[in-house]
Amino acid sequence: MDKSWMLLKNRMSSQYRDGVKAFVQFAMLNVGPNGKIRCPCMDCLNCEQHTSKIVEYHLVVKGMSPSYKTWVHHGESVPMNESHALNDDDHNDFGSVGDRMEEDIDRDQDEFLNLLEDVYMGTIMNDNENEGDEEDDDDDVANNVEGEDVRNFDKLLNDAQRELYPGCRKFSVLSFVVKMLHVKVLNKWSNKSFNMLLGILKDLLPVSDQVIPWTLYEAKKFLRDLGLGYVTIHACKYDCALFWKKNANLENCPICQESRYKLNDGKGKKIPYKILRYFPLTPRLQRLYMSRKTAVDMRWHKEKRVDDGILRHPADGEAWKDFDRQHPMFSQEARNVRLGLATDGFNPFGNMSNSYSMWPVIVVPYNLPPWKCMKQSFSMLSLLIPGPQAPGRDIDVYMQPLIDELKELWEDDVLTYDTSTELTC
Ligand SMILES: [Zn+2]
Ligand SMILES: [Zn+2]
Repeated sequence: MDKSWMLLKNRMSSQYRDGVKAFVQFAMLNVGPNGKIRCPCMDCLNCEQHTSKIVEYHLVVKGMSPSYKTWVHHGESVPMNESHALNDDDHNDFGSVGDRMEEDIDRDQDEFLNLLEDVYMGTIMNDNENEGDEEDDDDDVANNVEGEDVRNFDKLLNDAQRELYPGCRKFSVLSFVVKMLHVKVLNKWSNKSFNMLLGILKDLLPVSDQVIPWTLYEAKKFLRDLGLGYVTIHACKYDCALFWKKNANLENCPICQESRYKLNDGKGKKIPYKILRYFPLTPRLQRLYMSRKTAVDMRWHKEKRVDDGILRHPADGEAWKDFDRQHPMFSQEARNVRLGLATDGFNPFGNMSNSYSMWPVIVVPYNLPPWKCMKQSFSMLSLLIPGPQAPGRDIDVYMQPLIDELKELWEDDVLTYDTSTELTC
């Protein structure tokens, strides 16, 4: 949208007034049920809501706040590259978007290889650990899980190292899949167009390999097999229970008897009312230690933190210290993970008149120094709770899988490999 009028000094000019009209018209497309929009004038600064007439009047009389460049309160979404740049410290604003994209890809590639190396180190270590370790009584369970992990990691490494086609130097199979899905999401390609493009690439590239996933479905499965996926759990329409564990096969809610599925669509496919998406935590926590960059940081709260009575980090707080006094065994080991938890609603389609929303639950490892633990890359999405209303008290229902996993972590330790000290913990 044209926003040059915002900079005009003469607010009586027709150009300015047309701009205001266009803005109000745009804002009214996303108006809420009360018919009012936020007023971005110099006085209201988007804190007050008024009818379109009053907003128009304010904008002419008082002027529009010049810092309100992206109209996020009126239905405009933050451009993808902008939000990306905001979250990235080492980004400068030079160069075109295309350049930036290429730089990103190059940098990703490097980080990617490091990550894989670290993951692979963890694999080998876990392997030896199991063979030598005979005192552990829950060896059976551990072996099974670890064995699967090792196979997954092996697959990850093999596929990542395999060049996309003979002689291809820029892409491995995995980086190709990740990059393609990334571009698809960034540009909102439809599934159909994505599959069509993959079909062309398949014919174009000199590949005979069956490993490469050539459809969206296969690509997603490929990532899921590598442990990068999530679990879906159906939930009762009225949030009373999850269809999970002992309820997994029920057709009706065990508490309110409401049906689990919406009416069948005639093709025999049942559509559940609500779906909870759960992203298992353990592999990602393990990965924090397997990567050498973060392994040191995970001990920060004990080894590097300065205790001078100033509050900068949860570890400076009384609650943290009290916890340490109550659980001395746990606090002795700096690498034991401490997590913070946060949730808030958001609207995935960026349209304010649409009441649909999702409630993500985000987990943050508080072992990290304050400048890291608040960064996007360390915030781990744990649950996506279906909307539209805030889950409120019912959040307990949705938290069950996470709480279960945390209990498990608390009771039976999970082994991982610490790349920075070369010890298993
Ligand atoms: Zn105003
Ligand atoms: Zn129910």
